[in-house]
Amino acid sequence: SYLLNPKYTFDNFVVGEGNKMAHAAALAVAEGPGRDYNPLFFFGGVGLGKTHLMQAIGHEVLRTNPNAKIKYVSSETFTNDFINAIRKNTTDAFHKEYRSVDMLLVDDIQFIGNKQSTQEEFFHTFNELYNNNKHIVLTSDRDASQIPELEDRLVSRFKQGLSTDITPPDLETRIAILRNKANVNGLQIPDDTLSYIAGQIDSNVRELEGALTSVQAFAVMNQEDLTPNTAAKALRNYKRNVKSNSPSIPNILDTVAQYFNLQVSDLKGKKRVRQIVVPRQIAMYLSRELTDASLPKIGQEFGGKDHTTVLHAYEKIKKDIEEKSEVERDVDSIRRLLEK
Ligand code: ADP
Ligand code: MG
Repeated sequence: SYLLNPKYTFDNFVVGEGNKMAHAAALAVAEGPGRDYNPLFFFGGVGLGKTHLMQAIGHEVLRTNPNAKIKYVSSETFTNDFINAIRKNTTDAFHKEYRSVDMLLVDDIQFIGNKQSTQEEFFHTFNELYNNNKHIVLTSDRDASQIPELEDRLVSRFKQGLSTDITPPDLETRIAILRNKANVNGLQIPDDTLSYIAGQIDSNVRELEGALTSVQAFAVMNQEDLTPNTAAKALRNYKRNVKSNSPSIPNILDTVAQYFNLQVSDLKGKKRVRQIVVPRQIAMYLSRELTDASLPKIGQEFGGKDHTTVLHAYEKIKKDIEEKSEVERDVDSIRRLLEK
């Protein structure tokens, strides 16, 4: 069961300073899977093209060998499949599914950190594939050795092939990406407008694409030409909307529960064990940070807790973030998940 986005091909990928190593390695793997760079490990910030490149490998392998069995999953899907297999007593089918592929693409592998039994399972999946010369491609938001609570043996497996980072595109590459995107969408956009947009949005490619779409929509709605001036007006709106697009408390509860492999009811409940207390406090912290809800309202959404409990949790996590990199990394990863 692979589902590749048809747009994530090598043809649609713009190569620049920040991704040229990753791109070259991806091409090499696509042309000779099972040989060099196994596993291939891409890491870097959100929206920089990790998923795109990973899927481009899959497309290219399928183009030359349509019978290749390629499986693309996020590490969350791997985790869920594994948990369900245990629950339903279907681990044999699970093993067969994951260990019979020609190429396994696992996106956002950082989320198996802190999930012990999933790591154990992934270790065996990895070894089985690797020993049979099947290629494994992984992405992560950080270097393998920086993934919290990732077992050493997995860190060393992940680093034994090629590990390469992707850094944000420079201005020139951003302009090229916008031009490419405009071409793909059949749009004629003047160069000065493309340069203007690329100069305004310097965070990541996903935002760059969103900005282009909103500039285009703004021009159509207001019947204006696509000048830098029109782009400036459109981008003021766009930046405001991106900010107001905040998650809800139920979103936060779901995401935190999934991240820590807990139930939402654990987060709303009263159990005082550490494995639940810290995630619960993180969820409260994020509810305070990312929504407009008042402390009493947050308490209510967490199974009717007092507002002082919420405040205490908020201050505790705030302090932990300053002092302990582990909590900081978890909070950061969850924030990124919530941005999706
Ligand atoms: P990541 O997985 O690193 O968060 P994605 O692969 O999802 O990022 O990329 C975000 C968006 O930006 C996608 O629509 C992707 O096609 C596009 N993108 C990223 N890098 C490039 C690039 N170098 N050339 C063209 N499009 C890109
Ligand atoms: Mg991705």
